[in-house]
Amino acid sequence: MKLPILPGSTIGVLGSGQLGRMFAISARRMGYRVHTFSPDSDTPTGQVADVEINAAYEDLDAVRAFARAVSAVTFEFENVPAATAAAAAECAHVRPSGHILHTTQHRLREKAFLTSAGFPLTPFHAVRTLDDLDAGLARFGCPCVLKSADFGYDGKGQVKLSAPSEAAAAFDSLRGAGSSAEAVLEAWVEFERELSVVSARAADGSTVHYGPMNNTHQNRILDIAVSPAPIDPRVSREAIAIACGVLEALDVVGVLCVEMFLAKTGKLLINELAPRPHNSGHLTVDACVTSQFEQQLRAVCGLPLGSAELLRPAAMANLLGDLWANGEPDWAAACANPWAKVHLYGKLEPRPGRKMGHITVLADTAAEAERLVRAARASL
Ligand code: AMP
Repeated sequence: MKLPILPGSTIGVLGSGQLGRMFAISARRMGYRVHTFSPDSDTPTGQVADVEINAAYEDLDAVRAFARAVSAVTFEFENVPAATAAAAAECAHVRPSGHILHTTQHRLREKAFLTSAGFPLTPFHAVRTLDDLDAGLARFGCPCVLKSADFGYDGKGQVKLSAPSEAAAAFDSLRGAGSSAEAVLEAWVEFERELSVVSARAADGSTVHYGPMNNTHQNRILDIAVSPAPIDPRVSREAIAIACGVLEALDVVGVLCVEMFLAKTGKLLINELAPRPHNSGHLTVDACVTSQFEQQLRAVCGLPLGSAELLRPAAMANLLGDLWANGEPDWAAACANPWAKVHLYGKLEPRPGRKMGHITVLADTAAEAERLVRAARASL
């Protein structure tokens, strides 16, 4: 494929959730057409794409037909099977490339890569048997956290262990959840805060970075992201250097998020990688010159990256399905703050814990933005 792929061309997105929706909105704004592929219909991405294809990721003929109809394929969901990415790559330019998905869709492979490349990460122990689990518990003590090696997101497939006696049942429950028998035991990190850096890397190796964002979680799901994070500039530079190093070591062309703990010891430890735009980067849509989604588009198409400059301090609050418990939220109330930007993903069923949308507020300081975004959400 000849780069750059210019406006007027068609980009394919594997996956059909909110990340694909915001990517498609960016792409259409720049004059591209968008096709999306997933097993579902009337999806967040499909509602704003030109074409929505419904087929299983395992249907490789359908994947090839989808890829033949577009100039480039990207992902909004990193857990597509390796064979799906390979089939797409037979017919179209695919970024990020399959080896990055392969590494990041399995916690043990990801941690093995990070360790061998010398990046700082949460201490971990590979668990394939109960003996491995005992050895890990002897190493870290409790509390610690057992995570399935594959298909984990938003805290799914993980159990915090308060006592060694809970370990065997937890290991069984992860295996029973349908994932492979492989798991990772992690030491519990006493952290000062959670940070993330969202970085984009272009085909020519140039990079831009957002953040670090300061992230707070509720029930292991991201709740609030704030930028700039209230941290020492030295920590900020170090976090960006780590993220930049990860994108270079993986040879990413696209967007990748590095989630980190700032431990109470002052050390930064990588928690996990996401090879795509990230929930903590949603505030870039309203607060930055170029959003994380437009950077993904530019990187995939071989265009120069845009400025990642933060125009104003910002805070983002996620809107989970729980907010619908008493009926439709009061959107007019959230809009009463003229700086509040309401984003809804077009999901039809507001289940508890499901990400339905988010609100971003810009203000003079990050602390004020956080106060206002919490107030806007509370007014719903
Ligand atoms: P994850 O899905 O691995 O990102 O975990 C979800 C959330 O659980 C993280 O953002 C943390 O808030 C918490 N968490 C996960 N692993 C650890 C750990 N090893 N130590 C402390 N907190 C953790």
